[in-house]
Amino acid sequence: METFGESTATAAPPVAELHLHIEGTLQPELIFALAERNGIQLPYADLDELRALYEFTDLQSFLNLYYANMAVLQTEQDFADLTRAYLARAAAGGVRHVEVMMDPQAHVSRGIALETCVNGVASALTTSEEEFGVSSLLIAAFLRDMSEESALDVLEQLLAMDAPIAGIGLDSAEVGNPPSKFERLYRRAEEAGLHRIAHAGEEGPASYVYEALDLLGVERIDHGIRCMEDSVLVDRLVAEQIPLTVCPLSNVRLRAVDTLADHPLPAMLAAGLNVSVNSDDPAYFGGYVDDNFAQLVAVHELSARDRARLASNSVRSSFAGEARKAELLAEVAEWEKAAGA
Ligand SMILES: [Zn+2]
Repeated sequence: METFGESTATAAPPVAELHLHIEGTLQPELIFALAERNGIQLPYADLDELRALYEFTDLQSFLNLYYANMAVLQTEQDFADLTRAYLARAAAGGVRHVEVMMDPQAHVSRGIALETCVNGVASALTTSEEEFGVSSLLIAAFLRDMSEESALDVLEQLLAMDAPIAGIGLDSAEVGNPPSKFERLYRRAEEAGLHRIAHAGEEGPASYVYEALDLLGVERIDHGIRCMEDSVLVDRLVAEQIPLTVCPLSNVRLRAVDTLADHPLPAMLAAGLNVSVNSDDPAYFGGYVDDNFAQLVAVHELSARDRARLASNSVRSSFAGEARKAELLAEVAEWEKAAGA
């Protein structure tokens, strides 16, 4: 592939991005552009004032800004523009397949119609492979700090409108909102034939990872880094090769780890865990997938072979069809050959 000439010289292999919140790709520049288009008065005088707020102390301090900024997303066009901006940037950084999470409740609760957010994001994803060479799926993520009734209500509406979603996820404030709160939601999603993933073990304890697996029946764990505190859990995750979608820069920004040098990713890889590298909320956490790889490589010993393994893990752990997976695994192998040469 043409676009490969460059990327072989960089730290990042071609990957599937499995942990990405579309609302977290809202860049400060786009916030100002959309505010102007929609006649919204922002509480910040300029870009610098907004950027100064991106120093987070924990997950909640980030979520406060995250939800406030969403106010600029009003129309289908806004959601489509947001999604296309992400796809263009991600494609340039080596993303070849993406499973985009969106938070419908975060929009419905501020008066945006479900159709507006779903159709806006979906319209950009429909042309993503053709336009950017990035195949894609949409995942509806539910806010764990809201009630299960609210999640079930939105899921029923999504099913009734035949929304193009491939699965459901669970995100937002983790501590105090264990997976066990959402057993009925996940049972309903299973009945509806949807894939199931959930954030667990980011700020919350290792026990939340067990709950997500055993009570919700998830196929992947988002984050999961705190599994490293429980060797029995690590053994199980290795034996079952449960995918963990790790987001190193996010963990540093939200203070789940002190510095990137302290990040457990290399240890997780060495333990035989099925880990991949993802950007989570790249506009807020200082980088896209390729930035995560570049910064990891700058502080950790990660050979081209390690990086190729992270990339092939991401492809195999995706919900892409078998033919697409085979295509992308061949690209990863080609990258590894070129990078190792
Ligand atoms: Zn996340």
